[in-house]
Amino acid sequence: MKSKNAMHAMVLKKIGSALEWTELPDRQPGPGEIRVKVAACGVCRTDLHVVDGELPDPKIPIVPGHEIVGRIDALGEGVEGLKIGERVGVPWLGHTCGVCPYCASGRENLCDHPLFTGYMRDGGFATATIADVRFAFPLGETGGDAALAPLLCAGLIGWRSLVMAGAGKKLGLYGFGAAAHIVAQAAKWQGRSIFAFTRPGDVSTQTFARSLGAAWAGGSNELPPEPLDAAIIFATIGDLVPLALKAVHKGGRVVCAGIHMSDIPGFPYRILWEERQLVSVANLTRQDGIDFLRLAPQMGIVTHTTRYPLNQANQALDDLRAGRFEGAAVLVP
Ligand SMILES: [Zn+2]
Ligand SMILES: [Zn+2]
Repeated sequence: MKSKNAMHAMVLKKIGSALEWTELPDRQPGPGEIRVKVAACGVCRTDLHVVDGELPDPKIPIVPGHEIVGRIDALGEGVEGLKIGERVGVPWLGHTCGVCPYCASGRENLCDHPLFTGYMRDGGFATATIADVRFAFPLGETGGDAALAPLLCAGLIGWRSLVMAGAGKKLGLYGFGAAAHIVAQAAKWQGRSIFAFTRPGDVSTQTFARSLGAAWAGGSNELPPEPLDAAIIFATIGDLVPLALKAVHKGGRVVCAGIHMSDIPGFPYRILWEERQLVSVANLTRQDGIDFLRLAPQMGIVTHTTRYPLNQANQALDDLRAGRFEGAAVLVP
């Protein structure tokens, strides 16, 4: 018998297998939690890493998805300041311990005991999800649900990466997918010049990058027409690290923005020398979310989305893997 409130989800039951459409028992939010009726959930490269078993210790079975936009439909005990029906976003950072040295020093993105949405707690490839209210962002009523969804990870972690890249004007973006297409708009609004690097020969993505204001677009095997101040690597290919180091000038910075990358090949020290910096970005803090979501409307960010019904999540993941769309994929229940 189907319960009136039963929720459905696309569930990963075994690493490396397809997600399965599954009816789950109705869940009530616990103390400090909210239940969110999902209106849209973006599909992120990290979801592929979870499915492929490239990240350690996922909760299995798991409902992936951490770019969740929806409306609160139940409040747990002790939740204040949010109402039933209010629109919220639920991001990758699902819980932190609040007491470890990282949490205590304003670096909760590095928390020793975190829970990440769609990886360690069930996420948004579902008709409903449960979230820790302290980590959900009120989204207001401006903008469509599907258009906002990619901001919750591609946007937030892209923003953190952009801040980490420093203030340089000439910015390279390696891998022009969901995150880069948002970061390019933010960086352009800041008055920077964008140099977009795609898979060699991917003319359609290069054209897409130029349409978003990139001053130059080419293959990742090419050098930019002039040396860069900084570069952000969104692609998951370690071979790009030495290429990006060669593309930045003395004192330039290369930011690795992904959660997983193939091995980085050996490279001569001279391409790192002269105070070039190589750093990585991990996760997000709630402050990153507050900063970025406040600025996004002013920056006029328009996300380019391809929508899939929730039960087509496997197709969306396949299309992401194969690079079959520009911008971001979004699942709609
Ligand atoms: Zn902590
Ligand atoms: Zn993500």
